[in-house]
Amino acid sequence: MSRKSLPPPSSQPRRCWVEIDHAALRHNLKIVRKLAGRADLMAVVKANGYGHGLNEIAATLSDGVAVFAVASLGEAIQLRQTEKKKPILLLSAALHSEYEEIARHGFIPAISSLEEARRFAKAARKLKKADTTQINFTLDTGMGRLGAIPDQAFEILNGIRKLPLSVHSISTHLPSADSDTPFTKAQLAKFDALLKKLHPLIPGVPVHVLNSAATMLHPSKTRDLVRIGLLLYGVSPVRNMQKLVKPVLSWKSAVTLVRQIPKGHGISYGSTFIAPRTLTVAILPAGYADGYPRQLSGKGAAVLLNGKRCPVLGRVTMDQIIVDISRAGRVKVGDEAVLVGRQGSKEITASEVADLSGTIPWHLFCGITARVAYFHKR
Ligand SMILES: *Cc1c(COP(=O)(O)O)cnc(C)c1O
Repeated sequence: MSRKSLPPPSSQPRRCWVEIDHAALRHNLKIVRKLAGRADLMAVVKANGYGHGLNEIAATLSDGVAVFAVASLGEAIQLRQTEKKKPILLLSAALHSEYEEIARHGFIPAISSLEEARRFAKAARKLKKADTTQINFTLDTGMGRLGAIPDQAFEILNGIRKLPLSVHSISTHLPSADSDTPFTKAQLAKFDALLKKLHPLIPGVPVHVLNSAATMLHPSKTRDLVRIGLLLYGVSPVRNMQKLVKPVLSWKSAVTLVRQIPKGHGISYGSTFIAPRTLTVAILPAGYADGYPRQLSGKGAAVLLNGKRCPVLGRVTMDQIIVDISRAGRVKVGDEAVLVGRQGSKEITASEVADLSGTIPWHLFCGITARVAYFHKR
């Protein structure tokens, strides 16, 4: 059967789905704007808006932000289909073969070296767009990924100035904003010193440095723009500040089967869990093929059913998990289980699920796969 002949997922009964709460997104935007003080916002919507839906998220944020940031040309093109006005910055290095297309669309690439700048200027010149073509000059003050090494930065920027390109902004990235404050402070001081030398070459060019964690922990360093991802989606990288924001994403699944497992019976692959007594279990159609991490197996993960925490038993399989509903009261086929989100007075946070599976909420979100249906509540 071809994909076309299938009904759209929204008209099928919901098995495993995500709900995106745009009221929460608007709330978080307000909070972030407050934290940012006088700085403008660069909303980071890479990786399909952190797995929340690129175009939908951007539409809700658009009026409140100055710039959008994505990873790649492909993401930028997709965003431009609905976001007609705001500048779009590319955070990842581009392929040489992408430069012409980037210049044609007027996207702003992150440039670390004179070689990249020269190639990009050449591509722009070919299109006769060179003078209006903008770049983000980025500096490596400790991330070790993109950016000019500080003691070469002046020379590179000097070279860039001679090219028919204009510098949209100058930036650096903080690798340990949420984990190492002394290191981050030293990095910020290093960047400030560097900027004193560079800024005279490009007077008035806006500066952006802080990600979510740094904006929360170093608000005096906001500069002209802050680059905010995770916090907009309602997850605080600084744990004791989670109350400030509201999670935007909830992940749910419908019970497909309820059954009794006798004492001594094994559960799931490898029989890593043996029923210690007769257990009532529910089967949920969510597995690692949906992005529910297999690494949660045997780690004490839970889902919510009837407002109660129900432990995930044994291994997470590709398409299904088995949960203990012995303490959840009456559960029937079709009931709604929450994998991430609230139900009644209980909540399972993305951070909790990420922690248990040995990863981070950023990874959990962008690991949710195309099999999961999305519903936007605007
Ligand atoms: C992804 C990314 C961000 C956003 O980080 P959050 O911690 O999600 O706020 C900011 N800057 C760069 C360069 C990034 O790659």
